[in-house]
Amino acid sequence: MQLLLAEDEQKTVEYLTKGLREDGHAVDAVGDGADALALALRNEFDAIILDVMLPGLDGWEVLKRLRAAGRATPVLFLTARDHVEDRVRGFDLGANDYLIKPFAFAELLARLRNLARLPKAMPESSLLAVGDLEIDTLRHRVCRAGQALQLTSKEYALLLLLARNKGRVMSRTVIAEAIWGMFHDQQSNTVDALVRRLRAKLDMPFESALLHAIRGTGYVLDA
Ligand code: CA
Repeated sequence: MQLLLAEDEQKTVEYLTKGLREDGHAVDAVGDGADALALALRNEFDAIILDVMLPGLDGWEVLKRLRAAGRATPVLFLTARDHVEDRVRGFDLGANDYLIKPFAFAELLARLRNLARLPKAMPESSLLAVGDLEIDTLRHRVCRAGQALQLTSKEYALLLLLARNKGRVMSRTVIAEAIWGMFHDQQSNTVDALVRRLRAKLDMPFESALLHAIRGTGYVLDA
């Protein structure tokens, strides 16, 4: 997706830009409401992530002028405010969604996918299969080629995340957040070390590999 991020907190900008780019999105980031409006009117974005409290024009004013100019670009409000009246005001002005800080990065991605009306994930079953790998999510049992694998809870959590997203590259940011919690300030080698330990049990004893590294992006589980 082509995304416009309007946010003036530098740390949040860096975190979001990095994570969104890892997930394959193109991101233009601006820290001022007037710049955001100018860019949103000049370019066709798939979605705008809009902070409410911005210098120049606040998020509400940006949205109001954008809609007044006849632009229907989906807008997701990002804000620390959690008052109901703020949310109502945002929706009344034509916001499509609302996310309150602090939020989980995975939730932001899910909401962006929703805004873009991309296909949603299949309903969950308790049995997951990838090639000759089987995961029983009710009993937390993992088998490959009929052989039981003994995984630690972190290894299991990583395998489950990748299996539920079979064939889809998962970035280190998304993996770290899913395993260690939101806004985890991970060293990418923490994720890499966990992946190495999982591979030693999942792939090394077998002829074919299921867990693949995608250079510069992340990891994918696929037969
Ligand atoms: Ca702000």
